[in-house]
Amino acid sequence: MIGAGLGGLALAVRLQSAGVATTLLEAREKPGGCAAWSIREGFIFDAGPVAITDPDSFAELWRLSGQDMARDVTLEPVSPLWRLSWADGSAMDLLADDALMRQEVARMDGRDLPGWQRLLDLGGEALREGLGGLAQQEFSDMRAMLKAVPTLLQHQGWRSLYNMVSSQVGQDKLRQAFSFESLLAGGNPLEANALHGWRHRLEHDTGLWHPKGGLNRMVGALVALFERLGGAIRLGDPVARIEMIGDRATGVVTQGGWRGDADVIASNADLMHSYRDLLGQHPRGRGHAEKLARKQWSPALFALHFGIRGTWPGIPHRSLLLGPRYEGLLTDIFQHGVLPADQMIFLYHPSVTDPGLAPEGCSVFSALAPVPHLGKLPIDWDHMAPLYADRILNEIERRLIPDIRARIITRHHVAPSDFAGDMRAHLGSAFSLAPVNSQSLCLRPHNRDAVIRNLYLVGAGTHPGAGVPYVLAGAKLTAGLMLEG
Ligand SMILES: Cc1cc2nc3c(=O)[nH]c(=O)nc-3n(C[C@H](O)[C@H](O)[C@H](O)COP(=O)(O)OP(=O)(O)OC[C@H]3O[C@@H](n4cnc5c(N)ncnc54)[C@H](O)[C@@H]3O)c2cc1C
Repeated sequence: MIGAGLGGLALAVRLQSAGVATTLLEAREKPGGCAAWSIREGFIFDAGPVAITDPDSFAELWRLSGQDMARDVTLEPVSPLWRLSWADGSAMDLLADDALMRQEVARMDGRDLPGWQRLLDLGGEALREGLGGLAQQEFSDMRAMLKAVPTLLQHQGWRSLYNMVSSQVGQDKLRQAFSFESLLAGGNPLEANALHGWRHRLEHDTGLWHPKGGLNRMVGALVALFERLGGAIRLGDPVARIEMIGDRATGVVTQGGWRGDADVIASNADLMHSYRDLLGQHPRGRGHAEKLARKQWSPALFALHFGIRGTWPGIPHRSLLLGPRYEGLLTDIFQHGVLPADQMIFLYHPSVTDPGLAPEGCSVFSALAPVPHLGKLPIDWDHMAPLYADRILNEIERRLIPDIRARIITRHHVAPSDFAGDMRAHLGSAFSLAPVNSQSLCLRPHNRDAVIRNLYLVGAGTHPGAGVPYVLAGAKLTAGLMLEG
């Protein structure tokens, strides 16, 4: 098993729970991939998500071996789900509580209440058919795809999420509020298909949960579970090559020279890296990498993590600071590949739920801004990063924390070039292949390679896609295929 991101970890636990002896090989010193972490000057920084929805999808991994997730992780509820704020000073909360959420929608524009209710209903159907249905099916050929067509038609899968949301609610800010979440799967709300509406409904139904100690505790707990089941994990030694005899994978060799034989191999590493680099000596690797190079890749992220003096009980666990533009900004990032002067900032503040993440009287923040990937905007991020971090701080200073610079104790950033280097992510994309219709279901790289039949894929790049719920669903699907043989 190559790569210990959330998808790799979930798959490894599933295999080991089924009695398949599994070795997990991770390039970096820490597991977790996008969900890895760092500790600086007493601040604990989660690099990626800071909360989970649908805790049951994690708990299921423990139940497979009759264990209880609560033994390893304590989950704390988080509310609001999101606070959205706009440059004009207006704000709204997204809440799991129905009555409170109705009040929020009514406060924004009472005429949109029926539309919001309809969006919830549509989201419920999309949840059943999308995450609960299509995400659980293998799409190995066109026949499987044709079977999905009625579902796609019924749920307006030809429409973009933004377009579908706009058909139900009229107010601009509400349109943004109910469409932005596809961004956390790398999808442009203006392009991602309407079935992505399940994300809002999933959060509404299951609430939001913070693993005490940070998301890194969930990663650590998955590793502990895997090891208790007898699995082996090797960190800090990247796989350099998948060894082949004909069209059969026979094992891997790491950069450090470690060699392991395997009957089956699964890769959770970036798709392009898996085919172009790890299989570069095989015609399938070279051919598929050429195809992948022509595909549409999700944008990158610029992440600024900072620990500051002071506590901010009024800033919730997760906020989204929207700028003056929405459609224009998304088009600049996804299509035009320019770094606009305005931004959309996902501001994570996990220490408001869990003060133990920061030293006494201090707070942990992460600010994430979607930016074009390196294929669309091949700039020198070593030069740009300090300037861009300054832009983010200026915005937070103006809108939330007036003397932020004087309060900073520690800060660091992760730029698209770091995703490309450290994570081996093609073009620095933070979410792999874009979730557009032409790259979904059968048209997305399959969970089992079509030529190398004992090579499987798991994680953001393969079906069903990126974002934690999809990646966990993908691990379940890939495990099923591997166990069937
Ligand atoms: C900053 C950020 C915030 C996010 N926030 C959210 C959120 O709020 N909600 C949400 O749903 N999603 C969020 N996401 C998306 C979500 O975190 C990812 O889609 C998901 O974690 C990806 O998991 P994955 O299994 O594809 O593996 P990845 O996280 O991509 O991990 C792949 C692993 O493979 C390893 N690897 C690569 N090459 C090799 C090699 N040659 N040998 C060995 N190992 C290798 C890498 O080091 C890495 O550990 C966020 C992502 C980021 C980056």
